Amino acid sequence: MSQPSIHVTTQFIAALPMPAAVIGPDQRIMAANEKFAQNIGMSLVGRHFITAFRQPMVIDAVESALQTGQTVETEFHNRINGADISFDVHISAVGAAVLVTLTDRTGAETMDRMRRDFIANVSHELRTPLTALMGFIETLRGAARNDADARDRFLAIMEQEAGRMTHLVDELMTLSKLEGIAHQQPDDKIMIGDVVSAVVAAMSTIAQSANVALDIDTSDMTQVVRGDYKQLQQVLTNLIENAIKYGGQDKTVTLTVSHVTHQQTLRADGIKISVSDQGSGIAPHHLARLTERFYRVDNHRSRQVGGTGLGLAIVKHIVNRHRGRMKISSTLGKGTTVDVYLPAK
Ligand code: ADP
Repeated sequence: MSQPSIHVTTQFIAALPMPAAVIGPDQRIMAANEKFAQNIGMSLVGRHFITAFRQPMVIDAVESALQTGQTVETEFHNRINGADISFDVHISAVGAAVLVTLTDRTGAETMDRMRRDFIANVSHELRTPLTALMGFIETLRGAARNDADARDRFLAIMEQEAGRMTHLVDELMTLSKLEGIAHQQPDDKIMIGDVVSAVVAAMSTIAQSANVALDIDTSDMTQVVRGDYKQLQQVLTNLIENAIKYGGQDKTVTLTVSHVTHQQTLRADGIKISVSDQGSGIAPHHLARLTERFYRVDNHRSRQVGGTGLGLAIVKHIVNRHRGRMKISSTLGKGTTVDVYLPAK
């Protein structure tokens, strides 16, 4: 079988978008592109291919492709600048030589891991209320069969647990819908005061029952933003709800809206909505992770107050969709403030 001209081969693989090398019938690297050198860590032209791939699976695959002329696929794992990178390796015959191309699948692996973690988290979140429900059903069938008081008490708890699952499923569906429209910026003209009054009216009962005062600064409520009314309502609801839940009884939750000229991260004029509480605050090392799904500072406390760990993830998605920014700042023992910046209309 003939061997491709080195000159043409070098030009071809230089044009390929992925790391690529050609290994000759003498098992030496005839040509390799820049990306190959970067990902394998050195320039290897002229050397035996084993110098590049010191992994048995790849060595066997290259030898087999050279001997049989058949296409072989395998994997290669490398550590580059302290990061683990996985490649799919495709080896196909070109005359008597073989072309080796590498496809970085680290991103796909990260996605796979995130998906697995997500499913494990959802299952775990659902299992807790389900286990409780199963336990109560068993008790109602057995020991508490004829105990009217116990039955009422258990049914009330079962209702609460079922409510918790419904809430979780609703929030998961909200997140999934938001992901589907993440790149479509909403463009209704929304007067922020309308959103604030609707949310405050809806939250007043919860605030009252927690004996929390809602202090709303109404001076800048005529500001108009480009947005989605329902989603902005959801942002304020989640933030005020958290401030009430974690801010503690008998405290004040403050909401202010202000105009900001040329907001730095938005690089435009915008409005700033701030929700502050006087709760116990959040330690600095948690702050960056609060908007991750299911991330909670205190699992027990969150569950106790009916939290799902998804509220701030939803806020973040909505703010991103509005091309806005959010910032959470907190001082232990003093309280927490969440600032949401939205581009002005
Ligand atoms: P959850 O449904 O658990 O409230 P969120 O996504 O809304 O989930 O919030 C994530 C976590 O951030 C909460 O579990 C809580 O630990 C913490 N957190 C959120 N808001 C506040 C706040 N205002 N004060 C203290 N901790 C908060």
